[in-house]
Order: sequence, then C-alpha cells, then structure tokens
Amino acid sequence: MTEKQLQNEILRTFGRRPEMRVWRQNTGVAVPLSSVRKAMNALRAGNYSLAYTILAQARPIKFGVNGQADITGLLADGRRLEVEVKGKGGRQSDAQKAFQGIIERMGGVYVLARCVDDVERTLQ
Ligand SMILES: [Mg+2]
Repeated sequence: MTEKQLQNEILRTFGRRPEMRVWRQNTGVAVPLSSVRKAMNALRAGNYSLAYTILAQARPIKFGVNGQADITGLLADGRRLEVEVKGKGGRQSDAQKAFQGIIERMGGVYVLARCVDDVERTLQ
C-alpha cells in the first residue's frame, strides 16, 4: 500500500466516527488562480514570453506548517489529533519529529502510522 492509499484508508476508517473529526492537511506552494488564468490566456494567444513572465511574477502562496502531519483532526475531549502516515520504507523527517514534539508538549495526540491499526492502538 502506498502512503497515499494508506492516508485515504485512515481517512475512510476514522472519518465516519462520531467521537472524532479528521481531515487531510496539505503543505506546499501555489500561485493565485487569477495568475494561472492570465498565463493560460497568454498561451492561447501564442504569447509564451508573456505567460512565462506572468507566472514568474505571480505571488507564491505557501500553505501548511513545516513538518506538519498528513492528517489532522480533533478528538471529542478537545485534544488535537495528528497522524503522520508513512508508506513502506518511509522515515519521519527531523521537521516532522519537531512537529510531533510540539503537539505532544501541548497535550495533543500524535500518531506515526504505518497501518490503520497504528492509529487504532494509539486511540485506545
Ligand atoms: Mg507522510
């Protein structure tokens, strides 16, 4: 099972439970859709240079926190739940370990999950 498949399986398994809410949290960088549309219009008009300039000058928007887990959520008692999912051979990065430390120091629940049962065991 790939990491993505396992993420989806965890979301399916725990997403239906009334005692918690879980959702995917992404990290990354994007550019505004308006810039993409302008660049696409320039491409349609055959103006590749303008399209390149528009995208090169687009304001990058970073989202997420460095090291944050793949899945986040809330438990019914108010604690925050963070689930870092690892596929076969995946290793927790230093940033992810630091994020785990923050969550645990603040009273949250952090799970390093290589299977659905890892989450179940931690929650019991
Ligand atoms: Mg992961």
